Amino acid sequence: MDYKARILYLRKVLDQYNYEYYVLNSSSISDAEYDSLMQELIALEKDHPELFDKTSPSQRVGGFVASEFNKITHQSMMLSLANAFNNDDLRDFDRRVRSVIKKDVIDYVVELKIDGLAISLQYEDGTLSYAATRGDGEIGEDVTSNIITIKSIPLNLKENVSFEVRGEVFMPKKSWEELNALREETGEALFANPRNAAAGSIRQLDSKIAANRKLDAFWYFLVDPLALNIKTHFAALNYLRYLGFKVNNRIKLCKGMEEVITYIELISEKRHDFPYEIDGIVIKVNDVTTYNELGYTAKTPRWATAYKFPPEEVETVLEDIFFTVGRTGKITPNAKLTPVFVAGSKIQNATLHNAAFIIDRNLKIGDHVFIRKAGDIIPEVLRPVPEKRKGTEKDFVMIDNCPVCLEPLTFKDPLHFCLNANCPARYEEGLIHFASRGAMDIEGLGERIVEILFSQNLIKNIADIYTLHIKRDELMQIEGFGEKSIDNLLNAIEKSKEKSLEKLIFGLGIKELGAKTSKILAEKFLTLDALSNATEEELLTIRDIGPVAASSIVSFFANEQNVALIEKLKAFGLNTEYLGPVVKDDTYFFGKTVVITGKFEKYTREELTALLESLGAKVSGSVSRKTSLVVAGEDAGSKLIKAQEFNIAILNEEQLLKLINEA
Ligand code: NAD
Repeated sequence: MDYKARILYLRKVLDQYNYEYYVLNSSSISDAEYDSLMQELIALEKDHPELFDKTSPSQRVGGFVASEFNKITHQSMMLSLANAFNNDDLRDFDRRVRSVIKKDVIDYVVELKIDGLAISLQYEDGTLSYAATRGDGEIGEDVTSNIITIKSIPLNLKENVSFEVRGEVFMPKKSWEELNALREETGEALFANPRNAAAGSIRQLDSKIAANRKLDAFWYFLVDPLALNIKTHFAALNYLRYLGFKVNNRIKLCKGMEEVITYIELISEKRHDFPYEIDGIVIKVNDVTTYNELGYTAKTPRWATAYKFPPEEVETVLEDIFFTVGRTGKITPNAKLTPVFVAGSKIQNATLHNAAFIIDRNLKIGDHVFIRKAGDIIPEVLRPVPEKRKGTEKDFVMIDNCPVCLEPLTFKDPLHFCLNANCPARYEEGLIHFASRGAMDIEGLGERIVEILFSQNLIKNIADIYTLHIKRDELMQIEGFGEKSIDNLLNAIEKSKEKSLEKLIFGLGIKELGAKTSKILAEKFLTLDALSNATEEELLTIRDIGPVAASSIVSFFANEQNVALIEKLKAFGLNTEYLGPVVKDDTYFFGKTVVITGKFEKYTREELTALLESLGAKVSGSVSRKTSLVVAGEDAGSKLIKAQEFNIAILNEEQLLKLINEA
C-alpha cells in the first residue's frame, strides 16, 4: 500500500467531510463512516511520524468560522473529545489517567453526549454578554442573537458572577420531525438529523428563524471552576444547575471505570427513549485539580473521552423503487425493501427523497443495501454493497411523467413536480390532509378509507366529503362498511362543519401554511372572507408570515377553482369563522406565563385559563423560574410555596379579576 498517498487521500476527504458537516450542516457520509476514516488516518500517521502535518484533520478541531458572523476569540481553546469505541478503549483511557495521577480508583463523571453543536456563553457580573460557536476551537462565531431565542438559557443569573460556561444546543427529536414535515410540505430540503437542523438554525443570520426552531440546550462545562473555588466537575455542574442552567439529570458520578461501563450499558439500552438524540457518552475525570497534570493534545483534553455508540446499520435488499405524489405535486421515489428490523421496528419502505439522492448513492434495483434510522426515527438507505452485485441489478431511471395522471413532470432542482392542479393524486393527498387530526379531524376518514372512497369515485375532492350522506347505498357496498361505521363516519363529517376557522384554513392545504400559522391567521382575520380579501402587504404585517407565505395565500384565494370550492363548502354549511378566544395583544397579561393553582370562588380553573389565554397569557401547569405570575386560590399547595421561593408575583382571585376587568 502507498501509505503516503493514502494519508494524503484521507486528509483530503476528511477536510471535505468536515466542511460539509460544519459549514453546510449536511453530511454525505454517516458519523460512523467518518469516524472509521479518521481512525485509519490516526493509525497511519502514528506509524509514519515523518508524514506529520499540523494542518491534518487529525490535529485540528473540526469546525470553521464563516465570514458572515462576527468573530470571537475563545479565552481558552474549545476542544473536541478523544473517542472510545469499546470497553478496551475505555480501560486504556482509565489506565493512562491512573498512571499520571497515581491513584488506584478514579472518580469519573459520566454524561450523555448530546448530539447538537457546542456553544460557549460568557457571563459578566451575572449577565449574559455573548454566545459563540466552537468554530475552529480558537475562534468562534458570535451567535448571541440566535442563542438568546432559546428560552431555557438564563440571561441573568442569581449571583453576580463572571465566567464562561459551555454546553450543547440541540433540537429535540419531535421538533426535528415537525420541522421536516413542514419542509416536506413546502418542498424544502430536509435535515438528515436533529444535529444538522440545530446547527443550521444557530448559524442563521436572521434570528427570527432560530426563534421558530424550538431549540434547547444542556450545559456541561464550567470553564475554570478553580477560580470560583470549585474543585470537582460534579460540584461545578451542581453549581450551574443552582444558577438556573439546564443541566442534564442523567449525569452520574462513578467510582472507577467498571462502574462507568455498567452505566454505559444501561444508557445504551434506553437511549432511543430520550426525547433528544445522543451519539455517545462522555466520561470526565471529576477532580478538576488534576486537569493540568493530565494535559491536552492539540485537539482534545486528556482528562475526558467520548464513548461512541456502535452504528445500528442493517443490511437488506432494495427490491424496487416506486413513486408517490404529494399534496403539492412533489414526486418522491421510495425504496421497497425486504422487511428487516432496525432499532426496534420493522422497516419495509424508506423515502429516497429525489432522483439525485439515488444517483449520488449509485443505488440499483436489486442491490443489497445498508439502512439505518436517521436520528433513530426515519428509515434511511445509506449505500449499496457493490461486492454483492450479481449483474442482474437494474439501473434507476427517473420517470418523466406523473405516475398517476401521466402529465409530464417539471424539474425544480433537485425535485420533480406534477404541476397538474387536477392530478387525482394531489386531490387524494389533499383529502387525506383535510380530514387529518391537525386539520378538520374527521374520525373514520383516515388514509385507507380515503383511498377506498377515492378509488371507487365516491369522493374526488374536498367538497365531495359533504355529499357522502346521499351516497349511503354506495357506501354499503364497500367491504367492511356496515350501518354503524357509516353512521359514525357521517356523524363525524357533520360535526366537522362546526370546526373553528383555523382548522379549515389548515385543512385547505394552502402552500406554506402549517397549523400554527393557520391559527395566527384565524385569530387575526376572524373570518375566511376577511382572510381571502387580505392583500400581501396586510399579510406581511403579521408575525410569522413571510413574503413566500403571503404570496401563496393571495394566489390561493385568487384561484377560481379554490373560490368555487369555498363557495361549495359554505353552501354545505361549514363554519368559516374563528371560534377560539380572541387574543388581545395589548394587555397586562400578554406574553406572560401564568400558573393557576388552588380552588376559586367565582370561576373554575378552566374558565380562568380561557380568560387569561384570551388576554394573551400562556397558562402553564408547573412553576419554574420562567413563570411570570402565579394565581393562587384556596388550598394552594406546593406551587404556591415554589412561587414564593422563586420570588414570583402572586395574585389572589380578587386581585386577578380586578386586573382582568381592567384589561
Ligand atoms: P465529538 O462530537 O466527537 O465530541 C466533542 C463534542 O461533543 C463537543 O464539542 C460537544 O459539542 C459535544 N458534547 C456533547 N455532550 C457533551 C458533554 N456532556 N461534554 C462534553 N462535550 C459534549 O467531536 P467533534 O469534534 O464535535 O466532532 C467530531 C465528530 O463529528 C466525528 O467523530 C463524527 O462523528 C462527526 N463528524 C461527522 C462528519 C460527517 O461527515 N458525517 C464530519 C465531521 C464530523
